[in-house]
Amino acid sequence: MAIPDEEYILKTTSACAGCPSSLILRYVTKAAGPDTVLVIPACCTSVIQGVYPTTAMNIPVYNVAFASAAAVGSGMSEAFRAAG
Ligand code: SF4
Repeated sequence: MAIPDEEYILKTTSACAGCPSSLILRYVTKAAGPDTVLVIPACCTSVIQGVYPTTAMNIPVYNVAFASAAAVGSGMSEAFRAAG
């Protein structure tokens, strides 16, 4: 299986130099594909995505509170499933 050429995490991240999390995120999103929506609680990925109004994410991102992340993710999954 080849690694897709599409980039969903751009080179403009605000991550620390050599950040392993941004590299993992890059390959996970390549595997997940273009229909991916990220649900991000406060964490380093909140930093990695960059500073408004720019972003390093080439897919939709929902920034949410810690406690709501699982509920937001499952609700979005159900909504996408219902919409077909
Ligand atoms: S995970 Fe966070 S603290 Fe660690 S290298 Fe990446 S951005 Fe920096």
